[in-house]
Amino acid sequence: MTDLISSTYSQALEVIASVEPRVAEATRAELADQRASLKLIASENYASPAVLLTMGTWLSDKYAEGTVGHRFYAGCQNVDTVESLAAEHARELFGAEYAYAQPHSGIDANLVAFWSILAHRVEGPWLEKAGAKNVNDLTEADWEQLRNELGNQRLLGMNLDAGGHLTHGFRPNISGKMFHQQQYGTDPETGLLDYDAVRAKAKEFRPLILVAGYSAYPRRVNFAKMREIADEVGATLMVDMAHFAGLVAGGVFTGEEDPVPYAHVVTTTTHKSLRGPRGGMVLATEEYAPSVDRGCPMVLGGPLPHVMAAKAVALAEARRPEFKTYAQQVADNAQALAEGFLTRGATLVTGGTDNHLVLVDVSSFGLTGRQAESALLDAGIVTNRNSVPADPNGAWYTSGIRLGTPALTTRGFGKDEFDRVADLVVDVLRNTEAGTTKAGAASKASYVLADGIADKTHAASAELLDKHPLYPGLELS
Ligand code: PLP
Repeated sequence: MTDLISSTYSQALEVIASVEPRVAEATRAELADQRASLKLIASENYASPAVLLTMGTWLSDKYAEGTVGHRFYAGCQNVDTVESLAAEHARELFGAEYAYAQPHSGIDANLVAFWSILAHRVEGPWLEKAGAKNVNDLTEADWEQLRNELGNQRLLGMNLDAGGHLTHGFRPNISGKMFHQQQYGTDPETGLLDYDAVRAKAKEFRPLILVAGYSAYPRRVNFAKMREIADEVGATLMVDMAHFAGLVAGGVFTGEEDPVPYAHVVTTTTHKSLRGPRGGMVLATEEYAPSVDRGCPMVLGGPLPHVMAAKAVALAEARRPEFKTYAQQVADNAQALAEGFLTRGATLVTGGTDNHLVLVDVSSFGLTGRQAESALLDAGIVTNRNSVPADPNGAWYTSGIRLGTPALTTRGFGKDEFDRVADLVVDVLRNTEAGTTKAGAASKASYVLADGIADKTHAASAELLDKHPLYPGLELS
């Protein structure tokens, strides 16, 4: 099999090189770079060759606006097959009543969810009251009123610097502009979600949509409690599980930590801990299914059939028993990474983790997130800078770095290796000093990494990486 994959990719690269050699070169270089670095970006992973190969086919050439069996283009029978398979695997895997595989990304999935909820909760009842069958029957004056209704809805989501995502009501994002928004944070002492505070805010603000889910919160969320809060204020509970979908799929988050039985609408990406192609998906209850199904034409155009096919393949992989083992290892490795940091004196937001990521507050090393991220990259360790709650350095420089375990766990790293990773990261941070501007003032960006540290760290990482090769057996000729 590995010989077959090697020759398949080598020949594919030759075909690409015959048209634009620089693209083939960059693609080769990316494999070499990924193989040679300790990838700790919490939102990244390595999809299987089967998933990657599924994306590179002629399914990409097909337009298929509409839904399965109800397309605005002729000849969609094969797209119907792959989209149905992706949805079926998603429903079975997550125990969802309905699944929509068309969103091109996580942001698209959230847009579909927002507008589906608005269609179901606001537009539908409004049309009924106005005695109109559909929006095409409206006069200009009706439109004015409907726009007012839609544009004045309230959304309550988690703050960006507490770990929420841009699409959860952050002002510069469309979610912060199209909704009348407010945000909830975390407890200033513990960094943990305070459900009573969320409840109090929800009671005062009375949102139409309560958004739960996160990009950088290193803890599990109790979705039963979030649903209780939503019910108390008549809100729709939307959970964005983009980051932790793999832990739900793999049975690590069960009971009240599994959002699917509690949320009206669940959105996700398919490329992070779920280890599929780059894309999005929406799960919903029967009640919300008809409006989610109108993602196209509501906010989407033609779906990406080759990516939906790859979603079907990835979801089939996630239904295998091996995926449960993988997901548990992702969580166990994150524990080991957190303990590795704590025993070496680093400060972690919330004091640890119980999901797939840790957030290190690097201010105790005298660094900004930007300086830490850059110094680590020089040493071959890929992380991303991230705000910490109430971050004094803002969203650009930040005071934290976020590290996740999904990618290196796919390579086969275990707990001992993650302890060693913590050791290497701490060593780099201890040997990095904040730099100054050309004028000699304190800088939040420049830094000085002590001599020899980058080489030493590269050598130590190479030892770990060589033990766990990426795409083992894949040799490009
Ligand atoms: N939602 C959450 C919680 C995320 O973390 C992300 C990505 O970072 C997204 C949505 C957006 O996903 P995408 O980059 O695929 O649009």
